[in-house]
Amino acid sequence: MCSPAVYFSTRGRTREVSFRDAVLMGLATDGGLLLPGAFPAVQPLLERWRHLPYAALAREVMRPFIGDSLDERVLTALVERSYATFSHPDICPVVAVGPVHVVELFHGPTLAFKDVALQFLGNLFEHLLGESGAALNLLGATSGDTGSAAIAGVRGKANIQVFIMHPHGKVSPIQERQMTTVLDANVHNLAIQGTFDDGQRVLKAVFNDLPFKERYRLGAVNSVNWVRVLAQIVYYFYAAFRVQERTGCRQVQVCVPTGNFGDIFAGYVALRMGAPISRLILATNENDILARFFNTGVYSQGPVQQTTSPSMDIQVASNFERYLYYRVGAEPAAVCALMERFGTSGTLAVPGSDPDVAAGRGTTTETTAAIRRYYREYGYLLDPHTAVGVAVAERFLRRDEPMLCLATAHPAKFPAAIQAALGEDVARHPRIDGLLELPTRCTVLPATTAAVQEFVRQTLG
Ligand SMILES: *Cc1c(COP(=O)(O)O)cnc(C)c1O
Repeated sequence: MCSPAVYFSTRGRTREVSFRDAVLMGLATDGGLLLPGAFPAVQPLLERWRHLPYAALAREVMRPFIGDSLDERVLTALVERSYATFSHPDICPVVAVGPVHVVELFHGPTLAFKDVALQFLGNLFEHLLGESGAALNLLGATSGDTGSAAIAGVRGKANIQVFIMHPHGKVSPIQERQMTTVLDANVHNLAIQGTFDDGQRVLKAVFNDLPFKERYRLGAVNSVNWVRVLAQIVYYFYAAFRVQERTGCRQVQVCVPTGNFGDIFAGYVALRMGAPISRLILATNENDILARFFNTGVYSQGPVQQTTSPSMDIQVASNFERYLYYRVGAEPAAVCALMERFGTSGTLAVPGSDPDVAAGRGTTTETTAAIRRYYREYGYLLDPHTAVGVAVAERFLRRDEPMLCLATAHPAKFPAAIQAALGEDVARHPRIDGLLELPTRCTVLPATTAAVQEFVRQTLG
């Protein structure tokens, strides 16, 4: 188990699988998460990599994790097609703003960073199904942005149906419409009567019902799917190179606004591979279970609070288990014991600390102040998720190590937060402005495993 293209489960009870099978499996069959057998050491390649345009870099970074599941020509075509839908020539441009550098990850079809992975995932699924002639039914739970990005990634694709649960009335009107205005026959929006965590709980339960999962050929689009993490590793390299070019610095710090620990786990892999990143700064809103964990060693579930950064209103981070695996010395038995404890008591504790990750929480007040200050002083409009990151990042600035902040969404997706911060409606995007006029389709369901399974059953027949 020493190849980056061979995958195992954090709980150690799933046989090793190829990249192709890992993608189709989503959550591991033992309830754990899949991880690559090794992190390739890429330091000798950095000098060549720093000159590559985004899509070419994506191919190089992902290559070792894919092995012979895709041939070179196919991988190149998938990557090119996935990033051709982005509206900026650099795909993920980096701009200097006041004391930080911002990498804009929101130039894809739904204006959030999740497009970076889900455009690729959609094309990859289509390719893998085309090879085998099989059908695949994707099931996801969203706090807002995952759903629309997943739908944009697979709408209209042959042999794929997509079912997306969102918490009824708890995503922004724009986020809701980015999903429900997609009327392709293979897209099914489910508004469930509960919170995002309820959706995630139902999702886990459906995937853990193995006979059901197999019978209905269910696949995952949530960041439990390894491809989501894999595609996101790329921009950590890309953006760190751009900041190095601009500043001449050896290493950068990277601040990541976090909910499910997916995006920041990609950063952790990049760091472990040898990207020029000194440390990661994890930023949460008031739903600060992850920030508390990194500051105290205790991972303890609290109630979900609604904030102005709804895509981070999460208390149980589905990707945390991937990190936990490394933190407990790569021992599946230790992961099992801790996750079991967390499942019954809502809390777990790990001794020690990790010098690679610092963490803080940005309150709604601080976030609003950051939006106002960056707009007034630097003429730059932060979306509320990015602003959580920037507010936290400012506490961790170092003189000789530039701070790179991930901009995870376009501000036009969250006009209410912008209006509240600035007193004016300056966050506009033509793609958003058109949404309110369009017809929608959506089904409201109770937040139960049975209701969702019944809907899938009836739809697929
Ligand atoms: C999903 C999302 C996040 C959180 O990403 P995770 O991978 O869940 O940590 C942050 N900001 C925006 C805009 C998002 O859509």
